[in-house]
Amino acid sequence: MDDEWICGRLGEDEPWALGAVNPPVFENSLFTFRTAQELGEAIRSEDERYVYWRGTNPTVDLAQRKLAALERGERAKCFGSGMGAISATISSLVKAGDHVLVLGAVYGPTTQFLRYLEKFGVTHTHVNDLAECDSAIRASTRLLYFESPSYMAYAVVDIAEVTAWARERGLVSVMDNTWSTPIFQKPLTMGVDLVVHSLSKYIGGHSDLVGGVVVGPSRLIRPLALTEYQLYGAAMSPHDAAKVIKGLRTLPVRMAAHQERGLAVAGFLTGHPAVRAVNHPGLPSHPGHDIAKRQMSGFSSLFSLVLDTESREEVGLFLDKLQHFRIGVSWGGFESLVNAPALSTEESVRATMGIPVGLVRLSVGLEPADTLIKDLGLALEGVGRLA
Ligand code: PLP
Repeated sequence: MDDEWICGRLGEDEPWALGAVNPPVFENSLFTFRTAQELGEAIRSEDERYVYWRGTNPTVDLAQRKLAALERGERAKCFGSGMGAISATISSLVKAGDHVLVLGAVYGPTTQFLRYLEKFGVTHTHVNDLAECDSAIRASTRLLYFESPSYMAYAVVDIAEVTAWARERGLVSVMDNTWSTPIFQKPLTMGVDLVVHSLSKYIGGHSDLVGGVVVGPSRLIRPLALTEYQLYGAAMSPHDAAKVIKGLRTLPVRMAAHQERGLAVAGFLTGHPAVRAVNHPGLPSHPGHDIAKRQMSGFSSLFSLVLDTESREEVGLFLDKLQHFRIGVSWGGFESLVNAPALSTEESVRATMGIPVGLVRLSVGLEPADTLIKDLGLALEGVGRLA
């Protein structure tokens, strides 16, 4: 099964689709049964039978089948947001007294969620590499959580090395693969136990949907589908699942276009006098480039640059000068976006995360690279004068 076929056709030739080129959307909140006994049986295996939309829905199931196949996982469960998937996944794996290791920089609300879990007696430690993992691991450590490339800095983790380390110590590993999408990186094939995604980024691709997914073996997905999915209620709607299915149809071609445009823009910024650094793992100058090339088949177009300034005001002026890049949160859509943590993150949090004042995040969309490069070139003129 190749990825293009999974994205375009897998699961779509079922009799219930009646040959429709886009499968029908099941927008019913409940399913009915011919007998009370049938209802009882369905409720007993509610993760696999259709009973009520907060548990299962055929349109959501189709999106799940495709996402599981793309990640080479046994099973997937879609959620109403990426954070819905992340919080349910972590909750399903820990209990009071357990400890979590967080390797490298991860999405801010993921850390916030781990802090929230402290009130239930679950602790965590942030570490930067395997040597620090060795010192921070405890008898109560249950889970290793990471992203690769990492959040904002886009540092690369050697996935096979880290998962081998976790497995030898009996830890479950969970990785956020949103940056690469399964088109460019398949962490389950490198030893990761569970992969999570925000579907709100490249997979959705059109900035019209918020969703999430967790993929992995049935033995880990089934319990969370029956418990955390049902009880936290972050269910994916069938309409959002239909958007995911539509997003997947063009994902391979969009990722190829994002890669090409992202690398062209990153190449332009590298060595620009107003730019101190460009953090893009696809650049040969990136410290993790060799590992990235080994474990990824391509690069998405979200990366950061560091402006040659220590002035928040100047970072703001740079953003304001951009005409084509739009200022906003999120990423991975058709439209190019710019954001800067110095302007949107609390100062103490930014400093603790080691993010320089001049760090600017770009999500390169599907516009011609020349248009974007021209836009950046004009906005960079004069950067550094306020320093
Ligand atoms: N993971 C990463 C890397 C993200 O950037 C985000 C959101 O920006 C999330 C997870 C959370 O996804 P959502 O916004 O769909 O809840």
